[in-house]
Amino acid sequence: MAYQTINPYTNELIKEYPNASDQELENTLTVAHSLYKETKQQPIQKRAEILHAIAAKIREKADELARACTIDMGKLLTESQGEVELCAIIADWFADHGEELLAPDALETVATGTAEIRHHALGVLVMVEPWNFPYYQIMRVFAPNFMVGNPMILKHASNTPTSAQMMADVILEAGAPKGALTNLFLSYDQVEHAISDPRVQGVALTGSERGGASVAQAAGKNLKKSTMELGGMDPFIVLGDANMKDVNDLAWRMRIYNSGQVCTSSKRFIVMDNVYDEFIEKLKEAFSKVKPGDPLDPKTTFAPMNRKSAKEKLQKQVDEAIAHGAKVVYGNEPIDLPGQFFMPTILTEISKDNPAYTTEMFGPVAHVYKVHSEEEAIELANDSMYGLGGTVFAGDPDHGAEVAAQIETGMVFVNNFMVSLPDLPFGGVKNSGYGREMSKLGQLAFVNEQLIVKADKPNMDNLAGALVATQSIE
Ligand code: NAP
Repeated sequence: MAYQTINPYTNELIKEYPNASDQELENTLTVAHSLYKETKQQPIQKRAEILHAIAAKIREKADELARACTIDMGKLLTESQGEVELCAIIADWFADHGEELLAPDALETVATGTAEIRHHALGVLVMVEPWNFPYYQIMRVFAPNFMVGNPMILKHASNTPTSAQMMADVILEAGAPKGALTNLFLSYDQVEHAISDPRVQGVALTGSERGGASVAQAAGKNLKKSTMELGGMDPFIVLGDANMKDVNDLAWRMRIYNSGQVCTSSKRFIVMDNVYDEFIEKLKEAFSKVKPGDPLDPKTTFAPMNRKSAKEKLQKQVDEAIAHGAKVVYGNEPIDLPGQFFMPTILTEISKDNPAYTTEMFGPVAHVYKVHSEEEAIELANDSMYGLGGTVFAGDPDHGAEVAAQIETGMVFVNNFMVSLPDLPFGGVKNSGYGREMSKLGQLAFVNEQLIVKADKPNMDNLAGALVATQSIE
């Protein structure tokens, strides 16, 4: 597989990167494993200082990083700038909170003595990351695991190699030891080989169900811990008494931010009948106002998709949806620019037997459903094999939270847009994967939760739960 940066706005090949050799992978595993052993002897405060320095270096290089990201995968420069700043925020947060989150947890026990759980590093991790947020996806795994002391090998997407290498370089330049994060241009076979290596103790993947299933299978076969952040078809439920000004202001952004290529984009708008017509009109109006163009130009408000094959796949999905009876209420027309643009599109009348009902469209296409009751809205929201995120707009936020609690996903936001911040756990259920990144849950994703029970001497009165022979030896 070729690692190439092809600018999706100009279609120009900017740079090609050679694949890593098996020897490079072996050398990296050796360096990373030695670092794991060394790090165990070092105080966590040292890593916190380095992580703060990484945040500072990211901010210092923000312009360079943001430009590279936009050229790699096409998002608006302002979106790249936001992503770069978010990485610095994540690094600072784990530097500030990692020590406290990793402190031993005392346990109450009837056993003699005291009991606690200590959180130790596990060893080298492999991370497999996608192109849609080339820096943020790295930082979500890197920052907590750097604090733990797990060295990491990064296999990034084949179409964002420049961003991958730049972030790895910035991390090293800021003072992280060699081996803390090594970016390698690996083949799928090499990823599997790395997972099977005894020095590797875990794998974190963000990507499609297909990629996730394959990497999770390799992890399972080798009994390695894994976390999977996969696709989503997040519902956006609009109840009949929702504040429609807020809804209309946010719904379009939540579909076309990052050109619709976000796992937690609202992909299914489920709207109560009394506000449905207004919702459709305002969504059409907002979609019609976007300005496609060069994503590096600050006047552009709508970016190309990340690559030609992604646009072609989306067009095929939309064509198939229409062939199965979906109605195009807006969009699905060519945009007369050389880049990989897909016009913001609204599809309605998607029946249960339409492939669009169950297929994630990873681009700026909104599916809108009309419902007649809250129960119908919840049932439709849950009629999906995905379970990543979701949004509920309700007149009463407490009632909105009750509806949210009935949605089978890992995250739901009420009367607000979906955000991803280091203090909030991120992840899903069902085919959207398992495990959580960020927050305390992400901090503890790859640790050895080691139980230590300490007593002055054995207490023979306390044998009820003892896994030892209870008869006396005389
Ligand atoms: P993808 O094809 O699965 O690619 C993601 C990463 O996995 C890339 O680095 C890819 O490498 C690698 N990969 C794929 N198959 C692999 C295999 N068999 N062995 C080793 N590595 C493998 O995903 P995508 O379609 O580009 O990304 C979009 C998907 O990711 C969407 O479904 C989206 O919803 C999901 N996503 C989820 C989250 C989340 O946090 N839940 C966040 C963002 C995106 P190559 O590029 O070399 O193929």
